[in-house]
Amino acid sequence: RGRAAHFAPELLEDREATEAVRARHVLERRLRAAVDGGGLTLRYQPVVALPSGQVTGVEALARWHDEELGEISPDEFVPLAERTGLIVDLGRWVLRTACHEAARWPVVVAGPAASVAVNVSPVQLGQRDFVGDVVAALRASGLEPPRLCLEITETAAITDLASTAARLEELRRLGVRLALDDFGSGHSSLTLLRRLPVDLVKIDRSFVERVTTDTADAVLVRLVIEAAHSLGRRVCAEGVETLEQARQLVAMGCDSAQGWLFGRPADVPVLAGPTQGPAGMHVAAPAPLPLHG
Ligand code: C2E
Ligand code: MG
Ligand code: MG
Ligand code: MG
Repeated sequence: RGRAAHFAPELLEDREATEAVRARHVLERRLRAAVDGGGLTLRYQPVVALPSGQVTGVEALARWHDEELGEISPDEFVPLAERTGLIVDLGRWVLRTACHEAARWPVVVAGPAASVAVNVSPVQLGQRDFVGDVVAALRASGLEPPRLCLEITETAAITDLASTAARLEELRRLGVRLALDDFGSGHSSLTLLRRLPVDLVKIDRSFVERVTTDTADAVLVRLVIEAAHSLGRRVCAEGVETLEQARQLVAMGCDSAQGWLFGRPADVPVLAGPTQGPAGMHVAAPAPLPLHG
């Protein structure tokens, strides 16, 4: 092997690797500043009951807009925050803010039971004082515990099922609701469904995407819904984009749904209720969708 042939490409790779490391450090520094300095915001995506299409709550989704780098997706900054430990502060901010804002939604618009779902990273869940953080967020906001739903991703649950189950039991005792997020995205097992004390199973978008086009996926979605129901869990479908998908899910007995068909993440939650809401609150009671087929 001639050395010369490899010389330049190797150097280039080195330089690229150094660049990548530097870029990551810049990103990390800017994310830290955003977390500390109020540079994050929340968007709320409606969750609707099926088949009524009535909005029953929202999911809070973190957004980061950096002045120089622009909009950075949570699929990028959440893993970064997890690797660097920043997720603990970030997650606490999301929890507090979502509870605070949800507690202030007008009852006439949101309904007395409108829920807010907050994503919880496995890193956060594993923190010793996480349960204390949840208690503090509920107390500070005055939000009734059953109106808060904590979403735990399926992959998080698998790494240590026993300690995850124990942690979820602690949370459950506070009266908050629990959801298993992204079900179907990893090594979904019925053991997870059985062992974890969750109220809700959220079927991953990748499944929902193919529910009308792939017979095998349709079979799996149906089985997940039936298994979840048999175990006393409710089911929410994520990423519903078409009426056809929604109808199919209704036919399968799915309890609720989220997706662009019903509403994108927005800065003010779109909640069910009268069409004329209080000032500053956009209330677009969605036109009933013809879901009954
Ligand atoms: P997730 O919790 O599964 O949230 C659903 C994601 O799907 C959101 O992406 C949402 O905007 C997107 N989505 C909803 N409906 C549709 C649809 O009909 N079509 C398509 N194509 N996408 C749809 P987003 O906001 O980019 O968040 C991505 C992920 O980042 C979330 O997945 C969640 O795992 C994580 N994440 C977001 N905010 C937080 C947070 O505050 N804390 C933690 N730990 N993770 C978060
Ligand atoms: Mg989620
Ligand atoms: Mg999800
Ligand atoms: Mg996801």
